[in-house]
Amino acid sequence: MNAEREGLRSSHVEVREVNDELVTRPASHLPPATSVLVVSAHPDDESFGLGAALCAFADEGALTSVLCFTRGEASTLGEDLETLGRVRSVEIGKAAVELGVGHVELFEYPDLGLADQGLDVLATQVCQVADRVRADLLLVFDEGGITGHPDHQRATEAALAFADGAGLPVLAWALDEEVALSLNREFKASFAGRSAGEVEFDVTVDRARQHRAITCHASQATDNPVLWRRLALQGDREVFRWLREPRSHPRSCGIGAPVFQQFATPAA
Ligand SMILES: [Zn+2]
Repeated sequence: MNAEREGLRSSHVEVREVNDELVTRPASHLPPATSVLVVSAHPDDESFGLGAALCAFADEGALTSVLCFTRGEASTLGEDLETLGRVRSVEIGKAAVELGVGHVELFEYPDLGLADQGLDVLATQVCQVADRVRADLLLVFDEGGITGHPDHQRATEAALAFADGAGLPVLAWALDEEVALSLNREFKASFAGRSAGEVEFDVTVDRARQHRAITCHASQATDNPVLWRRLALQGDREVFRWLREPRSHPRSCGIGAPVFQQFATPAA
């Protein structure tokens, strides 16, 4: 049989029979969620990286929230290092409005030092925010941190540490490997991309609100050719993969998860 036959849609991939072989394709729609929590490292990650995804989830009716572990005070962009953390704290608030994000929690862990923080401590912060916003899906940077930044990787590790105990699904924003290769070639960067076979969602997005949110991060967006080149290479596509797939019966925060017992155990 040479023609494609009927498509069978699972939760996140489409299975089709092509030339008598079953092949999988990424789903063209995001997974369902009612409350999406971003777990990120720096102010601007939610806009530069996840802005289009946050808008897409909001358009589907989901509440969206952002946990950001640092104030981004160690960035090499931005002129006044003394006040950069304060400036960026204001910027993320403005960007959240553009993205329709309903809740932002900004912590003051050291920028460029997140990997030195205890994973149980960070995961506990995720746990508490996830409980507050009743998150049923965590959205993070892909393992490898997209840009290779250790803070990005640690934020994702913290989300996974919490999710493994609580049974929440974790969806990773990923980068097409062709986009990553182009950026690495052009800028001698260290972007980590994913091959087509590793991608589970390939979604068409509208970047208008993301662009407005990026503009809110003026200290980081004004002189950032890598960002604008990445967005140009991505076009109107975003790709995602599960780091933890949905389970049928998620547990509430900390139950059955040793790392959280000290916080979840009721007082006697
Ligand atoms: Zn970042």
